[in-house]
Amino acid sequence: MPDPIAARCLRLAWQGWCAGTLPVGAVVTDATGTVVAAERGRMFGSAPGAGRLAGCAIAHAEINALARLPTEGRRPDHTLHVSLEPCLMCVGAAGMTALGRLRFLGADPYAGASRHFRRTPYLDELPLRVDGPVRGTAGALGSALHLAYYLRTAPEAPAVAVHRRTMPELFDLARRIIELDSRDPDAATAGLFDLCTAPARHRAGQTATGEPDPGPRATGEPEPGRQTTGEPDPGRRATDGGRGSAGAEAGRR
Ligand SMILES: [Zn+2]
Repeated sequence: MPDPIAARCLRLAWQGWCAGTLPVGAVVTDATGTVVAAERGRMFGSAPGAGRLAGCAIAHAEINALARLPTEGRRPDHTLHVSLEPCLMCVGAAGMTALGRLRFLGADPYAGASRHFRRTPYLDELPLRVDGPVRGTAGALGSALHLAYYLRTAPEAPAVAVHRRTMPELFDLARRIIELDSRDPDAATAGLFDLCTAPARHRAGQTATGEPDPGPRATGEPEPGRQTTGEPDPGRRATDGGRGSAGAEAGRR
């Protein structure tokens, strides 16, 4: 099973899936590990409650979670946990919110931008540590939920082609997610995590560098040393280039 914070991110993502939007969940924890903000993506749908974006292209889980934090102060001891590798906007938002760490579970070979973080003099004052993807079931579920959304809503979208090329082993898990009963978000969450214990028909995915993942680890712990520190990565392909093409509406979360 994923650790408690990872599980909460995945439950939030699952709630997004059940609500018909891109399934991404985000949680902010403080120095003690206490959850101080928890949100899900709301690009497609309404938003009960104030102070929450919904129904727009920037209503990402990370943005809504970070919007819960006050303007004042810096938070080098806070961590933003996300079920999926953040996009360029959300990586930047984590930096601008003065967090110390960003941890994502699943790689996103399409719009993930964890390695495109660029420093400014301001951001140099608070180096943002970025960890991810997480090996094992938590990372696989984070990525597969995202792929499942595309398979269900826009199977011809560029995002599907990118996943087929870079993470083909993820398709089996994504298809099994689609088969789950999503009519009751709470009850079906158990089914989602049962996929973790079912006989593996998938591999955990690829690392952010595109290297083959040697396989799930029982603990679901972050992969040691697999992190970025905000340095430009000229070797990584621009992953958001397809957003302006057909299916772009599904290319955001
Ligand atoms: Zn984002």
